[in-house]
Amino acid sequence: MEKLDKILASVQKPARYTGGEFGEVIKDINGVDVRFAFCFPDSYDIGMSHLGMKLLYSLINAREDSYCERVFAPSLEMAEKMREAGLSLFSLETKSPLRDFDIVGFTLQYELSFTNILYMLDLAGIPFYSKERDESCPLVVGGGPCAVNAEPIADFFDLFMIGDGEEVMNELIDLYKSCKLSGFNKREFLIKAAGIEGVYVPSLYEISYNDDGTVAEIKATNGAPKRVKRRILKDFSGAFYPDSFVVPYSETVHDRACIEVMRGCMRGCRFCQAGYIYRPLRERSAKRNNALARELVKKTGYEEMSLLSLSTSDYSELEPLLDNLYSWTDEEKTSISLPSLRVDSFTSKIRDKITGVKKSGLTFAPEAGTQRLRDVINKNVTEEELRRTADIAFSGGYTSLKLYFMMGLPTEELSDLAGIISLAGEIVDLFYKNPNRQKGRSLALSASVSCFVPKPFTPFQWEPQDSVEELIEKQRYLRELPRSKKISVSTHKPYVSAIEGVFARGDRRLARVIERAYKNGAVFDSWDEYFSYDRWIEALKAEGLTAEFYANRRRDFDEIMPWDVIDACISKEFLIREAKAAHEGKTSPNCREKCMACGAGCKNGRVGEL
Ligand code: SF4
Repeated sequence: MEKLDKILASVQKPARYTGGEFGEVIKDINGVDVRFAFCFPDSYDIGMSHLGMKLLYSLINAREDSYCERVFAPSLEMAEKMREAGLSLFSLETKSPLRDFDIVGFTLQYELSFTNILYMLDLAGIPFYSKERDESCPLVVGGGPCAVNAEPIADFFDLFMIGDGEEVMNELIDLYKSCKLSGFNKREFLIKAAGIEGVYVPSLYEISYNDDGTVAEIKATNGAPKRVKRRILKDFSGAFYPDSFVVPYSETVHDRACIEVMRGCMRGCRFCQAGYIYRPLRERSAKRNNALARELVKKTGYEEMSLLSLSTSDYSELEPLLDNLYSWTDEEKTSISLPSLRVDSFTSKIRDKITGVKKSGLTFAPEAGTQRLRDVINKNVTEEELRRTADIAFSGGYTSLKLYFMMGLPTEELSDLAGIISLAGEIVDLFYKNPNRQKGRSLALSASVSCFVPKPFTPFQWEPQDSVEELIEKQRYLRELPRSKKISVSTHKPYVSAIEGVFARGDRRLARVIERAYKNGAVFDSWDEYFSYDRWIEALKAEGLTAEFYANRRRDFDEIMPWDVIDACISKEFLIREAKAAHEGKTSPNCREKCMACGAGCKNGRVGEL
């Protein structure tokens, strides 16, 4: 490791590459049967904040026969120095080359990380395409939200894990171990792995296309299931959860302990892929959540405990959990944060509990500026609820509020965008009218407006995405609307959303585009300073494809989607009903009010009972 030591002295943030943090798992590599490299295709600072990585790292390392190590995408500066020194990509724990692992597993969190997968394989000297990797190469696997439509990267992977990873990961390692011990043959292993519920082996499916570029047929071969069923963890409450985390030495995006209090969401906001692909809502008991939180804080020393889920204020035992947590966090000077609060379920009791030791700003997501559009997207939040919530926050001393909106939503008109500014203006007025507000402080209200990207397995999967030109025009309109000085408006780059939109609903032909763009310099595409729209458009053109085909056209309900090979346990009939309701401006109830028979399989429509 002499070479590494020399490099570390000359790169920024060397702690990203040293490992050795508190809580790191060290095992004898010769004493295990299966070595798993958990790869996060982005920087250490981002990856170390990711809950899924913490969970699977602990889960695999809880097995005596296996060892999971962490690998992140090094900075371009670090990669250059590694290349100069002849050092290939290595794990943080034992500094082993990625090539030496049995299984290399990538987490697929966002489409714009796809080129970083090639970047990491390249730095490791591992061929990109599954068909080019022989038995001496590690198995390359993927999982995470983008795996529900992994077609654009299907040719790079040996298999994907679809859905909740906890059980499928153990079954996959068991199978790998038995195949390895009896003389490993990749093809035979993959055919067997396709028999595990939740495992998708893309090389076992043949895709044909119509002349217009749409998918004509998806044919399963070698006994693979016609459709791969998403794996749903039935006993979420009793399922494995880490009692310790690796605690980074350097600053990361979120330096905090976190508990996933529940999984799934009952709401059905029609734009939100996570709200569908993690269904049904499953809760962990307040008693167990509290015990896990206490253990984590004790073992990590973190001063912040975050209660994570897609919509934590919908957690049915939130108030008892906050009472339990408060009984010890106050004394230990640990603050409690709830990053995903819904406007309609924020109460003064919740406010008072989370204001514990540190008081940061509150964030809510009305998503659209008018009631009409909020009904289209099924964001069942009224203006009245938003006003009530803002009042509760201001009475509790909050002087900073962040509101998330989207532009480019189906049926959107300019009046919906104007609604964002008038809604924000009303909230500013409410602050100054509130007799209990913090005196002597002014309000900082920020409206963050992102660009809507239609995603698979949502009722909007058939919708055209706004073009870059349309979004630029809408952003200009929004920025030029007169507004109070207390309101700041930020928008996202439409070029980035445009390419995200291509890959979100892409097919297998895009692998060549990703490879071409990578070879032309595309890497860290989710970072503004590295992203080049023109490079992507050139790569698409060179492969005879267009962004418009993938992102900007309306699809028919009967078109075969590239992701139809996956059964995400959300029925197409349900999604079509929801799509039609959206265009009629009709809302749908949440799962607790009425089961909409979505296909997630709750027993007798009782949410989360499987
Ligand atoms: S089956 Fe019913 S209750 Fe369960 S997630 Fe679907 S709509 Fe909600």
